[in-house]
Amino acid sequence: MIREPLIFEISGSGKRGFLLPKLDVPVIDDILKDIPSREEIDGFPEVSEVEVVRHFTRLSQTNFCIDLGFYPLGSCTMKYNPKINEKLASTKEFLSSHPEASEELTQGSLKILKITEELLKNITGMDAYTLQPSAGAQGELVGMFLIRACLEERGNPRKIVLIPDSAHGTNPSSAHVCGYRVQEIKSNESGTVDVEDLKKNMTEDVAALMVTNPNTLGVFETEIKKIIEIVHAKGGFVYMDGANMNALIGTCRPGDMGVDVIHLNLHKTFSTPHGGGGPGSGPVGVKKELEPYLPFPIIETKNGIFHLNMERPKSIGRVRSFHGNFLVVLKAMVYILSLGPTGLKEISEVAVLNSNYIRKSLENDYHLKYKTLTLHECVFSDKIQKKYGVNNIDIAKRLIDYDVHPPTMSFPLIVQGALMIEPTETESKRDLDRFIEAMKKIAEESKNNPEVLKNAPHVSYVRRLDETSAARNPVLRWHKNRNDEYQGS
Ligand SMILES: *Cc1c(COP(=O)(O)O)cnc(C)c1O
Repeated sequence: MIREPLIFEISGSGKRGFLLPKLDVPVIDDILKDIPSREEIDGFPEVSEVEVVRHFTRLSQTNFCIDLGFYPLGSCTMKYNPKINEKLASTKEFLSSHPEASEELTQGSLKILKITEELLKNITGMDAYTLQPSAGAQGELVGMFLIRACLEERGNPRKIVLIPDSAHGTNPSSAHVCGYRVQEIKSNESGTVDVEDLKKNMTEDVAALMVTNPNTLGVFETEIKKIIEIVHAKGGFVYMDGANMNALIGTCRPGDMGVDVIHLNLHKTFSTPHGGGGPGSGPVGVKKELEPYLPFPIIETKNGIFHLNMERPKSIGRVRSFHGNFLVVLKAMVYILSLGPTGLKEISEVAVLNSNYIRKSLENDYHLKYKTLTLHECVFSDKIQKKYGVNNIDIAKRLIDYDVHPPTMSFPLIVQGALMIEPTETESKRDLDRFIEAMKKIAEESKNNPEVLKNAPHVSYVRRLDETSAARNPVLRWHKNRNDEYQGS
């Protein structure tokens, strides 16, 4: 592993990226006189072309990414996405089309948005969509606003939102930001919603239940119909967190289960790479009853012409400029159309198969708190390894030495020492086997050589960081004198 110094440290006086031929005309001094030139920038690095290229190429390789290897970050669906969709989204025509352009000039783009809405409606069994929200969490907030607007119109916005204890942290945050008090619902011994606890808490003060299906343990809520009936009977709405849609796609539809509102993560399920802070998209689908409250504008067709309807008196208003992240929506449309119904169904089938292959292969090496069958992800814990003083962070860090990105850790909160693994449908059996082998080796090491885990990772660019101080006081400089190793932060 080459430890890449700062570009300032490679710098040497007089080094140049290029050399101009010797001047063969008279020198005119004053043209550049007022323009700040490089010499005036104190300490500006001077490097050769090959040094620049190598420096930035090396830096680009210090980060792990999905193009490099297996990235089983549970809940996040870090799958490989076809490059052709990126290419399509970056064609000149799409890049240069301006959101302020008139309807007349943007018929093609409006058509793409409309088609995507129709496809998502079809896939999820909902009646209408907004494509504006930029991420799942914003979709959740929009969904909560829609529910609130509808209940307010009925005369009482209500006070409480019920959320199972296995939920993603954004669920309670969204409900809270929308002005609701969050009441936690217990999970039963199968890891699903405890129906008795739900019954006890479902009153006419409850605006909604936010439920994730399959939940964050990867377990399908088999009692979903009954759960929804209980909520509806008291006049509440059911919000489904659809971030795990790649476990269901083509197989069953939340709308048919009775769900009232759902968000999808196009950057998890539908072809936009995820991570690194790039643009995402969290479309929200609703049933008829909530449609009048959707953000405006709504795209409508009149005589085959696409038209933006701004006259939406009940709308919660805009939640994002223009139409959301258009290019992300475009990629989703291309992805869905290119796979077709059979291809989409295969996504969920293979995602579930891959996850169960891992679960079955590792069930004797790592503890599974819940024995229930899981769909697209599985949650192990460090309970067996704890006996040897090894915990989930040691296991996760050691995986880096085996060329695997660590899985999601310590989530969901109901599993102590959780290691949440989501292989996704895009991994080959060969890569799954390599991962399983690494996990088995680590299980061995925790018995025979726990020290090697405690000090892992050994081969990475930076070693074990103190994560709290690394986040609060990042030290970005490589210290030569620090024993050739990052310490602390
Ligand atoms: C990722 C995720 C979210 C939040 O989505 P963002 O796009 O990251 O805001 C919500 N719920 C679940 C279950 C998720 O996995």
